[in-house]
Amino acid sequence: MKYLIWLLIVFAGIWWIRQQRQTPSDDTRDQTDKATRPGGPQVMVPCAHCGVHLPKSEAIQGTQGLYCSEAHRQRQEG
Ligand SMILES: [Zn+2]
Repeated sequence: MKYLIWLLIVFAGIWWIRQQRQTPSDDTRDQTDKATRPGGPQVMVPCAHCGVHLPKSEAIQGTQGLYCSEAHRQRQEG
């Protein structure tokens, strides 16, 4: 019975050390994943007025195409 208790303590120690080692590396891996691809790949579209590329989600839809800003939409479409 005495050996069993020691065995449990040794296994608990190994498990604890593994937890301590794994937790920081997992956290950094998650952070780099989020930094490299925030919400998946972005579709880039050119502004119909100045030609600058911007994410499609930030582009302004006009009758003649997509624009980088409301000012460029008004300049292009009058
Ligand atoms: Zn523009």
